[in-house]
Amino acid sequence: MRIFDPHIHMTSRTTDDYRAMAAAGVRAVVEPAFWLGQPRTNPGSFADYFDSLIGWEPYRAGQFGIRHHATIALNPKEANDPRCRPVLDLLPRYLDKDGVVAVGEIGYDSMTPEEDEAFAAQLALAVEYELPALVHTPHRDKARGTERTLAVVAESGIGPGRVVVDHLNEVTVAAVHDAGCWMGFSIYPETKMSPPRMVEILKEHGLDRMLVNSAADWGHSDPLLTRATGEAMLAAGFSDDDVDKVLWRNPVEFYGQSGRLDLSDLGPAADTFEGSSIKRGGS
Ligand SMILES: [Zn+2]
Repeated sequence: MRIFDPHIHMTSRTTDDYRAMAAAGVRAVVEPAFWLGQPRTNPGSFADYFDSLIGWEPYRAGQFGIRHHATIALNPKEANDPRCRPVLDLLPRYLDKDGVVAVGEIGYDSMTPEEDEAFAAQLALAVEYELPALVHTPHRDKARGTERTLAVVAESGIGPGRVVVDHLNEVTVAAVHDAGCWMGFSIYPETKMSPPRMVEILKEHGLDRMLVNSAADWGHSDPLLTRATGEAMLAAGFSDDDVDKVLWRNPVEFYGQSGRLDLSDLGPAADTFEGSSIKRGGS
């Protein structure tokens, strides 16, 4: 099983996690820029963080045979802090970089006017830099947040096929499906979405435009839940090829729209997972 985790915050994980992920078949990841727990008080903190997402973290991942790309944005939560707003002016310099494959995470946290403004401005940047967009949906009032998200996406002029709306569940998936956007699911140990629930969603809505991630952020999370979802799919009767589509080819297709996804020369590190038959190559 070869796995591309399309949304995982490796900054908050240890080298033990990288080792376990490689052993489980994870060959590639995308790490979206987001908040760091402690609120940041000035744009310089973001610049250093963005630099680590395109410099240090890819190096760390590479030591375990995992290819690392990033998405860059001012996240919805910190878009509400006037001290962080100037980060929007920093973005163009990062959106030009090779390892940056989308604008994100953008979208809504509390659905404030400030978030509206930052969301629209960053969708415009995605259009300008010809990058896909990764959109976070709020954890509270998710149905209304998703509806509003889809309206703002439609208004922005970005093609729906270049947008993933993430952190979906049974209630929000259909609207995103019908809008033509990609559907993202964060699989967590206890909250939000589990492997068995994910399998039911795949049965009902099909495998096209579906992205499964572990998010693996500061809360209780598990970077191996992509693998667990693949196993749950197989147990439910999906084929190896179905699993490969959801866990590898879909994220490659979505982020490949950036023209910057580099999956060449992936080493053999992940091929040793016992009992697996990981296919080589990519892109
Ligand atoms: Zn995230």
